[in-house]
Amino acid sequence: MDNFKRRDGLPMEFDGAEAAAGALNPDREPPQEEPARQYYFIEKCRQHVSEEGRRLGHPLTAAVITFGCQMNARDSEKLSGILERAGYVLTDSEEADFVIYNTCTVRDNANQRVYGRLGFVNSMKKKNPHKRVALCGCMMQEPSVIERIRTSYRFVDLIFGTHNLFKFAELLCTMYESDRMVIDIWRDADRIVEELPVTRKYPFKSGINIMFGCDNFCSYCIVPYVRGRERSRRPGDILGEIRALAAQGVVEVMLLGQNVNSYGKNLEHPISFAQLLREAEQIDGIERIRFMTSHPKDLSDELIEVMGSSDKICRHLHLPLQSGSTRILQAMNRRYTKEQYLALAEKIRSRIPDISLTTDIIVGFPGETMADVEETIDVVRRVKFDNAFTFLYSRRTGTPAAAMENQVPREAAQAGFDRLLACVQETAREQVARLSGQTRAALVEEVNPHDPSLLTGRLSNNIIVHFPGAASLIGRIVPVELLENHGFYFIGRMTP
Ligand code: SF4
Repeated sequence: MDNFKRRDGLPMEFDGAEAAAGALNPDREPPQEEPARQYYFIEKCRQHVSEEGRRLGHPLTAAVITFGCQMNARDSEKLSGILERAGYVLTDSEEADFVIYNTCTVRDNANQRVYGRLGFVNSMKKKNPHKRVALCGCMMQEPSVIERIRTSYRFVDLIFGTHNLFKFAELLCTMYESDRMVIDIWRDADRIVEELPVTRKYPFKSGINIMFGCDNFCSYCIVPYVRGRERSRRPGDILGEIRALAAQGVVEVMLLGQNVNSYGKNLEHPISFAQLLREAEQIDGIERIRFMTSHPKDLSDELIEVMGSSDKICRHLHLPLQSGSTRILQAMNRRYTKEQYLALAEKIRSRIPDISLTTDIIVGFPGETMADVEETIDVVRRVKFDNAFTFLYSRRTGTPAAAMENQVPREAAQAGFDRLLACVQETAREQVARLSGQTRAALVEEVNPHDPSLLTGRLSNNIIVHFPGAASLIGRIVPVELLENHGFYFIGRMTP
């Protein structure tokens, strides 16, 4: 769970207010076109926020509480940008006057955590009736969730989904002008609205959505149902955003999509993800480019080539395996075999020898036996992942896998999970150990939260290093000698 709070001095990424000039007078009719319409509602919200702040005798505060993936984290930056522009002071405390939970529904325990937070925030709202609570994100695209909130969490003021996040300012206004729960959920998205305000968590690095939704329908995954069909942003809009970020001092960008390797296929003038990367690389000021997530079936030779010959694209590829058993991969609708995955990993490692390969693996998918888990362990040993995120299968209502009859009992899945985890940890430790004693460039991200004498930096291959240094180095890329290997991170020292 990440919270977004105000960091003074952070610039807004876009000044869409200029684009909307003349449309901001909240006493006029709202414009129809976007994003002018949303800037109009932001101004209107400012009035509500300042009136309520006057009435309560303090500036209104807002907290955005984020669950889930990088896409959600980026969406939360957009929510924060609108809240800040509407006059709220951002905080990370759920004590805030306005709390919005940006939810995730990929695994059931994420849903349970949200219900837990709602119970907690309800007790605060009883003491402070002026407090307002909103919910958005993937979980809200599930009709059963909306029904449950409508009946059991009646104190919630505003609910919206993933497809109309761009309308947040307008919905916020409706919330202020209504005495009922406001619910606005769209089944799909009909457009991508550009140039709304964003408040970034870090001044020196930023995520950038390059596409939304997913067309793959892996049989266990709820994402295509809650995030909709694949939609790519226009390359000009993406590159323009990267240029604007570079001008504001951003040195690292992370291009985000559920399946970035199929970027651009559905555009009016199709372009490949590798071509987009080539263009992004040309932008002065950007020193590192990351991306997330890659589907193995769509990873092209062109992309491997572009990565291999680039100084800016980070030496890290997250390539979800999910299972090493071809039989289970088929049932998962992943559309590659164990052998194809192994061949791809081999090709990547031979073209880019210093790359770090990480992965996601699910254990306990319907019908999975210990023999299937052994197949997965075989892949882990052969690919030597630098890290792997292992998950117990979570049954998501509405997906084909949830209806499969051969669900695996929890204890059997846990046994497979434990075996796999031991193997993953061993491989990752060996991989990380190979870096000991080397000097690598690290982007300094923050003062170490546990030891303020240390800075925390990230290597191109995504490994973390802690080392002594001054906070003024945050946002800079510095050479660090990797001295002590602690399994998944290093203690190091800066070199001249
Ligand atoms: S590629 Fe598969 S797992 Fe990833 S978001 Fe799409 S459907 Fe879900």
